[in-house]
Amino acid sequence: GGAPFFVCATCGTTVLGAFDPLGPIADVCQRHGLWFHVDAAWGGSALLSPKHRHLLAGIERADSVAWNPHKMLAVGLQCSAFLLRDASGLLQRCHGAGATYLFQPDKFYDVTYDTGDKTPQCGRRVDCLKLWLLWKALGTQGLARRVERAFAVTRYLAQEVKRREGFQLVVEPEFINLCFWFVPPSLRGREGSPDYWPRLGKVSTEQNK
Ligand SMILES: *Cc1c(COP(=O)(O)O)cnc(C)c1O
Repeated sequence: GGAPFFVCATCGTTVLGAFDPLGPIADVCQRHGLWFHVDAAWGGSALLSPKHRHLLAGIERADSVAWNPHKMLAVGLQCSAFLLRDASGLLQRCHGAGATYLFQPDKFYDVTYDTGDKTPQCGRRVDCLKLWLLWKALGTQGLARRVERAFAVTRYLAQEVKRREGFQLVVEPEFINLCFWFVPPSLRGREGSPDYWPRLGKVSTEQNK
């Protein structure tokens, strides 16, 4: 009798680097009043490239997005962003302790920037500063180049895997993950035999034979 209230789509899955179709998923969420979260921890950085950001088309319709600039952009660990559409103080209502001796509102700046009462923690490092510094140092185009280079070298590696004996591509890369089989000499040319896949599946966990 439970009713779903939340849909989590992934941009850049951990193993294959696959992207869910965000537009159609957003349509379903809209139709049924579901919270639409996008896990873009890995793939979110593709947004910085005008050439590749189409992979995340529809992300602007999400209620919340997680993105880890410490992954593909190589911002120093850790730097994880949680982006939330809500502007009604949802995080404060969820996590706020409301301690009167902390987070006084009578400040000389806009207190909506105070994050202390919006997260389960209280004290924390200013992780966003590392992203800000890298962005200042490389610029938007520099970050785009970093992303595009990663895509390009992955395509190059895919070509090398395809033309090298003993290697077999699992699937054409969508992102910068490249999945391939190493086929040891004892299994080459034996794709049809019944023990091929079970034995191939053990190769990476055994010594190369
Ligand atoms: C890295 C990763 C996570 C975990 O992110 P944390 O910020 O370390 O919790 C979740 N989902 C995907 C797809 C990831 O690549």
